[in-house]
Amino acid sequence: MAHTPRLLIRGGLVYDHDGDVHNPPAADILIDNGKIAAVGANLSVDGAYETINAAGHLVVPGLINAHYHSHDTLCRGLFEELPLEMWLLYTLPLTRNRSKEEVRARTLVGALESLHAGITTVQDMLNLAPMNDAYTDVVLSAYREAGIRVVFSPMVADVPPIAMLRDGRQLPADIQEMLGTAALPATEQLSYLDNQFVSRPPGGTLHWAVAPFAPQRCSAEMLAACAALAEKHDLPIYTHVYETKGQVLIARERFPEHGGSLISYLKSTDLLGPRLNIVHSVWIARTEMDRLAEAGAGVVLNHMSNMKLKSGIAPVKDLIESGVRIALGCDNCSGSDVQNVFQAMKLFCLFAAVSDPEPGPQLAHHALRHATEGNARSAGLERELGALKPGYRADMVLIDLNDVAYLPFNSAARQLVYTETGRGVKTVIVEGRVVIKDRKAATIDEDGLRREVDSLMRHFRADYDTVARERERALPHLRQAHSRVLQTEIGMSRFIPRTR
Ligand SMILES: [Zn+2]
Repeated sequence: MAHTPRLLIRGGLVYDHDGDVHNPPAADILIDNGKIAAVGANLSVDGAYETINAAGHLVVPGLINAHYHSHDTLCRGLFEELPLEMWLLYTLPLTRNRSKEEVRARTLVGALESLHAGITTVQDMLNLAPMNDAYTDVVLSAYREAGIRVVFSPMVADVPPIAMLRDGRQLPADIQEMLGTAALPATEQLSYLDNQFVSRPPGGTLHWAVAPFAPQRCSAEMLAACAALAEKHDLPIYTHVYETKGQVLIARERFPEHGGSLISYLKSTDLLGPRLNIVHSVWIARTEMDRLAEAGAGVVLNHMSNMKLKSGIAPVKDLIESGVRIALGCDNCSGSDVQNVFQAMKLFCLFAAVSDPEPGPQLAHHALRHATEGNARSAGLERELGALKPGYRADMVLIDLNDVAYLPFNSAARQLVYTETGRGVKTVIVEGRVVIKDRKAATIDEDGLRREVDSLMRHFRADYDTVARERERALPHLRQAHSRVLQTEIGMSRFIPRTR
């Protein structure tokens, strides 16, 4: 990447988590070599620098998406009404073994959408299939080209996908085949990652994480090896846990030696600790939240996909009361179907009312803190990202206060969370580089990408039609399995709506 010159962001209202979150004072931010060098009113700066006039703008820390998969970006808008287990039937085959051109385009589309919504970092838990250098190159160079920061974690699993279904092994053989009855050996996948972490060391806008797909998709040996790999390279861990009711029943039925708890199972494999982030935790028991909190582990909430895929609502209030670390994500592009942390923050605040209708937090400024500092913490980057402070990496968003969302302007925190849609995002800076300028990508040719996607979609849609036709016959089986799940008691208390 070319050397980024010093940049002075002059006169914006600079959002500070610990300051006045409703009426932030105007200040200047000096960026030097990708980092924030100084923040203060009327900074006097010597030497050469470029200036961005930020008067009439809110300057906020770059938003971080703590849970995302770039693999199904092109499936956006294809699905509705499908619970997770049925949706997987369609998305899985459309996300693996695609052409390099398609992988590049889908990565750029997700990055572009994210940047336009003020997201400066994505945690991409990618179904990297095939898992090889050529495809890793394609993905990472697309991210570099777009200029977005990525916490990259190709997903690993050594138990076949059919294990994601509670009654998977009782389905007819051809339907099992459709869902996936094979997996790569653990050692092959983990040694690939081990090599990547060394040959492509983190730095600039690249960060790594370890991502076992889900406890029920990995052998105990593989989970233990993931824990060791994360320890060896000092990396965070993300894994899907308790996304659906079916998954909590899998825990009760397949892991009796761990008291039917995936958290106990994770503990037995050394994964339960400060590096760990449980993605979803919709169906987590209160005692399990306490164990996560005690271990310093975190949860990544994805309300949008949890609702769209009919998984349920994570118990926000109880999670907060347990003291567990909170992060927010937007999840798949065909399961939510948008990369927009403003929406994620708003739902986070609103859904607390489901488990607790009493007045009290969750407040907008808490959501903003979770989506920046909290999400940075999930990736182990809390001293580098999530706030506009000297020494931090220069990732920030200039929000146009002329947008009608701020007419009138009463509170930065509340209007960012409850009113902003992403429309006000005008300038986006990542690692000191302007990547969105006046609402246009400064890094990639948006029109060129549009033409490229249009032409790729002819082939993609044809493949989708084939998959949809072929999978039609599996649906009745999955529908029955889904009803059986809904009729079964989970046998451990989740959260109890309060009726004080
Ligand atoms: Zn996910």
